[in-house]
Amino acid sequence: MYRPSNFIPIGTKVNSWDDLKPHFDILINREVSSQDDLETLITHYSELISVFSEDYAWSYINMSCHTKNDDYVKRYEKFASEIEPEFSKLANFLTKKITSHPQFSQLDSTRFGQLSKLFKRELEIFRDENVPLNAEIAKLESKYDQSSGGITVNIDGDDLPMPVAGTRLLSADREVRKNAWLAMQESRYAKKEEFDILYNDMVKLRHQVAINAGYENFRDYQHDNLHRFDYTPADAEAFHDAVETCVKPLALSINKKHCEQLGLDLADYRPWDGSGAPEGQAPLKPFEGGEELTKKAIDIFSILKPKFGENLKVMDQNNLFDLDSRKGKSPGGYNYPLEVTGMPFIFMNAAGTQQDVTTMMHEGGHAMHTFLCNEEPLVQYRETPSEMAETASMSMELMTSPYWDKFYNKEDHIRARREHLEGIITFFPWCATIDAMQHWVYLNPKHTVEERDNHFVSLTKRFGSCVNWDGYEHYQRNGWQQQGHIFGVPFYYIEYGIAQLGALQVYRNFVRNNARGLDDYIKGLQMGNSKPIPEVWKNMGIKFDFSEDTIKDLMDFVQEELDKLDVDVYVADERSS
Ligand SMILES: [Zn+2]
Repeated sequence: MYRPSNFIPIGTKVNSWDDLKPHFDILINREVSSQDDLETLITHYSELISVFSEDYAWSYINMSCHTKNDDYVKRYEKFASEIEPEFSKLANFLTKKITSHPQFSQLDSTRFGQLSKLFKRELEIFRDENVPLNAEIAKLESKYDQSSGGITVNIDGDDLPMPVAGTRLLSADREVRKNAWLAMQESRYAKKEEFDILYNDMVKLRHQVAINAGYENFRDYQHDNLHRFDYTPADAEAFHDAVETCVKPLALSINKKHCEQLGLDLADYRPWDGSGAPEGQAPLKPFEGGEELTKKAIDIFSILKPKFGENLKVMDQNNLFDLDSRKGKSPGGYNYPLEVTGMPFIFMNAAGTQQDVTTMMHEGGHAMHTFLCNEEPLVQYRETPSEMAETASMSMELMTSPYWDKFYNKEDHIRARREHLEGIITFFPWCATIDAMQHWVYLNPKHTVEERDNHFVSLTKRFGSCVNWDGYEHYQRNGWQQQGHIFGVPFYYIEYGIAQLGALQVYRNFVRNNARGLDDYIKGLQMGNSKPIPEVWKNMGIKFDFSEDTIKDLMDFVQEELDKLDVDVYVADERSS
């Protein structure tokens, strides 16, 4: 594992800006007279970022695990609104010192080329006047986290956390589904106005940040801010078109098939039916509680590669999981790399569903990425762009799927894999909807709440839906609010679509040759962010390309895999008869 040099004493904790400033001062005042000096400065700078990042991470982790704990909330807010702004100013100063040094352009470009690109981008978009604006945005984001984490759903007198209530949507009993859906919508809708106002403020501030940095709009600013070096906003729009042409018909046919399985007329396919099991079929129940989920995940990762299983085991021994859903937790799931520990923390809201199995495999994929990069001394190369990070995690979902029999009997295993593959297809239209929605929001920053809701509905129509919303149009219009990314991590969404194209290619290689497929996957992950994504993908034996041809080709592959499962069902039926 990566061992930091002795620049910052081991065990240094960040409680205030005073804990970091002296280290910055040393680096800012240090004389750099040779290439070696410069490289040492870069390494020490990376170490300083790592120490800051680790404690910032813990402040976020603790807050999201306990959104009602005032101490945790205050500590996170201190990081976001006091320490981070000071940090970003001096970090910018130091980045300038490094990049303007005469020796910087002399550094070995195969090693430092990507770093130079990252530093230059950072300097291009940094503006002093944006520091307080970003702190204000961070405060709004944490307000959103706390408020959404506090949502509970009242069903039959019980206050349930949202993910637990959500398991009822999987029921074969239509009344159970409908009641749960109505209760969930009611809880969300009660927050509509509050979240509309929060989002209006976020959009306004983000637009101003973009203008200050010399951009016309936040979409183009954020594209650069997210280090999207290898595609343009226009490519993202072309991706939306390709999803509409190549994936929408397939996704609609999956929905129609599901509607038939439920024994419903298409006109009677309602918003509470989308995840329902057909009559007589119980929802999949893969595990009871986070402990069982962890144990089985370790077993599965060990089959794939013993070292992968060991990694999860060490995380478990170090209490780096918080998996079970409970009241007062932020929604969603994440893998947060801890830059000094060299391991990540995995957060989830598991309620015992197949979706939770997928999420665990997904976050586990991120975790393996963290482990595979932890010998890299530069934090900038350990932290990968989301397109690459999500390729790691989504590939892991697919590569572990043949071993999900640890959770199921054969029949249910096939059912889980089918639902997973179908979910990949139906996810693309949603991914395009969420991305296109944000393009519109930030290209039209002066829109009204009503126009925003209208636009969302027009997008759900564009990307396909056969759900009948009669009588519940107000909930439909509010549908975008269920996607937390829109609030907390703007424009972080299309990455899932791009990465899925990478993951499907990784999985296709894995199906053709397990050992080689896995080796290539590992090779790519180990490169971290040291090379541009197309080059990393090439090393993984896959193509960075989201043209219509590639998407069509991969959808055919998913269909082939689904057909194979049909044959397996046949075998399973034969055996049970
Ligand atoms: Zn992910």
